[in-house]
Amino acid sequence: MESTEFDGLILGLAEFVRRDGRYPYPELLSHALNKLALEVTAVPYPRTLTGLLALLEKPVKTWYPQRLLPKEFDSDFGLLYEEGLSEEASRYFYEELLEQGKIPEFATAATKQIAIENYQFYKILARLQELYNNDSEPERVQQEYVLLRPFLIKNGYTTPAQLRKVFSKTRHIDIEEVGDFYEDCQENELCWNCDRCGPLFKKYGKLRGIKPSACNDHRQDLPYVKKINWQHGLRRLKFGIHLRICLPGIPEMRLFHTLEELQRKYPDQLCATHLYPGIDRYDLQLRFCDKSTWAVDIKDYRSPYNLAPKLTPLFGEGDLRYDESFYVIPIQRLQQREDYLEILREQATKLPSSTHLLSDAVFEERVINKIEQLQQEK
Ligand SMILES: [Zn+2]
Repeated sequence: MESTEFDGLILGLAEFVRRDGRYPYPELLSHALNKLALEVTAVPYPRTLTGLLALLEKPVKTWYPQRLLPKEFDSDFGLLYEEGLSEEASRYFYEELLEQGKIPEFATAATKQIAIENYQFYKILARLQELYNNDSEPERVQQEYVLLRPFLIKNGYTTPAQLRKVFSKTRHIDIEEVGDFYEDCQENELCWNCDRCGPLFKKYGKLRGIKPSACNDHRQDLPYVKKINWQHGLRRLKFGIHLRICLPGIPEMRLFHTLEELQRKYPDQLCATHLYPGIDRYDLQLRFCDKSTWAVDIKDYRSPYNLAPKLTPLFGEGDLRYDESFYVIPIQRLQQREDYLEILREQATKLPSSTHLLSDAVFEERVINKIEQLQQEK
């Protein structure tokens, strides 16, 4: 368990930034920093707090001991970014530690609290999956899930009135539960939202998004940057839900809307587009008039090395059976790195070669080609 030291450092920093960097350091962080001081040899260990914070912002591959670095961490990133966790450190914290249940014994109550918040969504997901498999009305369970997940993706901010309006008739999802995914905004707080990456934070007078590697221009006059007027009861998505549900959901919804549009235009060829079928076994299911079915999952990762271990065959039993399966990557990721798909294919050892790996743009072309082919066969 060589990476325990690294995990302790991440947990300590997570708690530190949650307390807005106020003294004293969380005990966990002091402990991790003491160890770090002994381990760092690639660069002189900083003697001041300012120097230390500057070091923690640098790509970890330039200073952190290689042998202690877990391979799941993208080492082109630093641990901090503008006094918050870097996007990769946040991802690692939520995805590799909290969701894998790797919260060590020594984690503090504050960290455990974040873990609990994060589990709320997975608790609902598990409950609905269970109901879907055993309930007499799986369609209704599915409908309610397809109400909940896109709601969290599209509504970085909400109000009690909106929650009541949308969730008052759901049988399997409680309004309170959905409300718990949000936290109160301060009175008269200036709130901003980006259509591409969700709720924004203000840092050094500038608006900052949750994933700067994908979306980093938030000047207030840009059409996708929107001001949210404060009103009584205004609530903002909690960080973990924003990071793990809302953000990855944005490219999912974008592709879904494109496909819905194609289905509206060519209903005789593309008969159905299902979102999150089987309570989220995968992201999208396309049914064509020749009875063929395509299964699609969308993955937005900067590094193909980090994505590859997550790629497993899509679930394909019962109604989820498919003829073709696809992992779709937002094209911006492939533009940032030319050999992205090549590396992904090589590294994704758990994936059968029949599963296609491609960009969203190429996937849309494939769907259009399929539609044209079916038109000619008529
Ligand atoms: Zn943005």
